[in-house]
Amino acid sequence: MDVYHFKNFEMLDPDVGELRGGHEMIVEGAKIKEISAKPIKVGKAQVVDCGKRTLMPGLIDSHVHVVLSEVVIRNMESIPLTLMTARAADLMRKMLDRGFTSVRDTGGADWGLKEATDNWLLPGPRLFIAGRAIGPTGGHSDGRRRTDQGARCHCCNALSFSMGIADGVSEVRRAVREEMRQGCDQVKIMMSGGVASPYDPLDSLQFSVEEVAAAVEEAHAFGRYVSAHAYTPEAITRAAHAGVRTIEHGNLIDDASAKLMAEKGMFLVANLVTYFEMKKRAAEYGMNSDMLAKNDLVIDGALKSLEICKRHGVPVAYGTDLLGQLQVAQSEEFTIRAQVLAPIDIIRSATTIGAQVVRMVDKLGCLKPGAFADLLLVDGNPLKNLKLLQEEGKHLSMIMKGGRFHKNRLQ
Ligand SMILES: [Zn+2]
Repeated sequence: MDVYHFKNFEMLDPDVGELRGGHEMIVEGAKIKEISAKPIKVGKAQVVDCGKRTLMPGLIDSHVHVVLSEVVIRNMESIPLTLMTARAADLMRKMLDRGFTSVRDTGGADWGLKEATDNWLLPGPRLFIAGRAIGPTGGHSDGRRRTDQGARCHCCNALSFSMGIADGVSEVRRAVREEMRQGCDQVKIMMSGGVASPYDPLDSLQFSVEEVAAAVEEAHAFGRYVSAHAYTPEAITRAAHAGVRTIEHGNLIDDASAKLMAEKGMFLVANLVTYFEMKKRAAEYGMNSDMLAKNDLVIDGALKSLEICKRHGVPVAYGTDLLGQLQVAQSEEFTIRAQVLAPIDIIRSATTIGAQVVRMVDKLGCLKPGAFADLLLVDGNPLKNLKLLQEEGKHLSMIMKGGRFHKNRLQ
């Protein structure tokens, strides 16, 4: 088992919220074994002199789609699973390059990709997977064209691989159970219209109260939870009453729905960057005017949603939800949130709050004995300058996931 002795660093534990010098850390195998303010005596260990850089936990992006490599999701229908996987490998490696050592995939990634990244067959972040995102006929996850009738083959193209349709309580139960059989960490359902789907109005309500309740019941029975795609207060409220744990997007949230989320102990996973990137660049990749019009409906709510959640004490995780060629903007979410939040709040959204969302408190997003050794070494103080967490990992001298170096510029 590899043992590393980290010395000479400024420690940024997001729980503490300020830099602390004078500590040493031992990493043994996949985990942090010891952190001490006194010199640590250890037998055989490789010493890592951090040169006074900032040591912090790896970042968590709580809303990604590693298999959606096209801005226009519909184009995924002509992509075979082999090419889908090859592109996902490239996207995942770049996420790890940016310092995201964990990502929560909200539709698409399966247990095969999770196992491949766990074993470093593909360098990439830890994956928390949903398998297929499930929605009703005509909803956000119905990828068929209007000229398509009936069902589609579910096995041989990237679009069908990442999204599923279920109607009625028994089909929802079956679909949810199927995802859990396939090893999902969370169940993703569609509860309102979406931007990247052409036909469903944004304020449409998707899945009935009974269908959502069935999804929640099945997920809970298996020790899992439900995450819901929802934009409007009505969809958020319906999700909250049915026992959904996380709201994805939530741009149009209002005071009443935020208050309800706080009462129910729910999380918002916001992903503002995707709306700004779509506005800027999605047309050049073929996104049509209907979708861009829906994007305009939600972009105004983006920053407001953060302020409303702050007011009501709803924890907001860092998400991005970028599609295809736009995924390069993953770290820009820091800049956008900085308009209304302090750097430490944004760093917490991508560490401690992300760890709560993926149910890995004290294991991820923190510097503690017993936590996974998912570590970044930053050339400066990100509490003063969030740019250090941007520019494709340029300012990260070291990236470690599970006690293994993905990058080490110190040697
Ligand atoms: Zn998404």
